[in-house]
Amino acid sequence: MGNRNRTAGVAIIGGGIMGVSTAYYLARRGLSDVIILEKDLLAQASTGLCVGGIRQQFSNPANIRLAQHSVRVFENFEEEFGVDVNFRQVGYLFLAQKEETWNDFLSEVGMQRQHGVPVEELSPEEIKHRWPYLNVVDLKGGTLGPEDGYADPYLAAMGFANNSRKLGVRIEEKTEVTGIRIKGGRVQGVETDKGLISAPVVVNVAGPWGGEVARMAGIDLPVKPYRRQVFMTKSFDAIPKPVPMIIDQDITFYFRGEDPGILMGMSDRDEPSSFDLHVDRGFMEKVIEAAIHRAPILEKAEILRGWGGLYAITPDENPFIGAIPGIEGFFSAIGFSGHGFQQGPAVGHILSGLILDGHTDFDLKPYAYERVGKNIEQEREKRVV
Ligand SMILES: Cc1cc2nc3c(=O)[nH]c(=O)nc-3n(C[C@H](O)[C@H](O)[C@H](O)COP(=O)(O)OP(=O)(O)OC[C@H]3O[C@@H](n4cnc5c(N)ncnc54)[C@H](O)[C@@H]3O)c2cc1C
Repeated sequence: MGNRNRTAGVAIIGGGIMGVSTAYYLARRGLSDVIILEKDLLAQASTGLCVGGIRQQFSNPANIRLAQHSVRVFENFEEEFGVDVNFRQVGYLFLAQKEETWNDFLSEVGMQRQHGVPVEELSPEEIKHRWPYLNVVDLKGGTLGPEDGYADPYLAAMGFANNSRKLGVRIEEKTEVTGIRIKGGRVQGVETDKGLISAPVVVNVAGPWGGEVARMAGIDLPVKPYRRQVFMTKSFDAIPKPVPMIIDQDITFYFRGEDPGILMGMSDRDEPSSFDLHVDRGFMEKVIEAAIHRAPILEKAEILRGWGGLYAITPDENPFIGAIPGIEGFFSAIGFSGHGFQQGPAVGHILSGLILDGHTDFDLKPYAYERVGKNIEQEREKRVV
């Protein structure tokens, strides 16, 4: 490729769900002089490795609003993008073991309903009646979001990417951004391993690498990568389908149906930040133990394979979305913990609005750069897995 100097209206760093949806919404609104720079291949990092869950049950109203916008996009995905992303609204069942967690759920349910989220609260007996394979002896209760579910994250990202291309967006894989040029408080473009690209607008949607990319612009954003492991069983039909996304909130264990088996995972909250993606067999045993405790029939299931992916985590579990003050033209959308796939369509829409109009109707206060170093506990997202 040589050291060609090139230009773009917007240079997007990262080809995960955030990058491709931002490019798509910019191009759909007429700004197609956009280039996506992806150091590896599209949607192979967090997006391609995630479990595709889509829910509206959040504790922070701003996250509910992002989720509601995205759900409508997923409901109409095939019509708009020409791709069936296997969106299945099988429900999300959150379970509470601790009294404190159950009290949080109950107060969140009221707020969620006020925001138009369909959600049911269920006693342990009701849960047992509807999902007889669950052990409910240690549960205080659960909440079910019947519109929640999952979709195929890779197909969704490629739907955005392919439609962006049709609208004129350039996508360069195997191109790594190595620096960000800034002059007089204004972004000038990006340096890549294939040369310089001049651009008046640069977007950091580098997922777990978002903190590193921010540092290229001299900004310290508390976004760190953490490994999260997922395991898939062999074909398993002892549990009647559809199996909703069932989340044991207090231990962050979850499972759902993924034909023909069961997909399960758990967060190891004691694991330090790293870019490690290896599967740890010792941790797999802990996941199996949690699975058998919650659904004893899973003792009969056999693990087919496992993989590791990265969450990008911030101190209050909320992302940074928007402009970075002091560097005109530099935008970020990073730090989405374990719920960034589902927020991708909404965030792409929001970033395109910020870039083209300078504002958005969405409440971005919980996602503002200004909260760095402050402990704004009331904004913390509690429904994280
Ligand atoms: C195991 C697991 C399960 C999950 N389950 C869910 C779920 O059920 N529901 C949900 O909504 N979310 C889930 N998530 C979270 C979700 O995957 C992420 O929040 C989301 O994919 C983030 O998308 P992204 O575009 O920001 O990041 P990514 O998909 O990681 O994309 C960032 C891209 O930037 C590229 N990049 C980085 N640095 C550079 C550079 N210098 N130059 C060029 N390119 C660069 C990377 O190669 C990467 O492709 C899960 C995550 C994991 C790991």
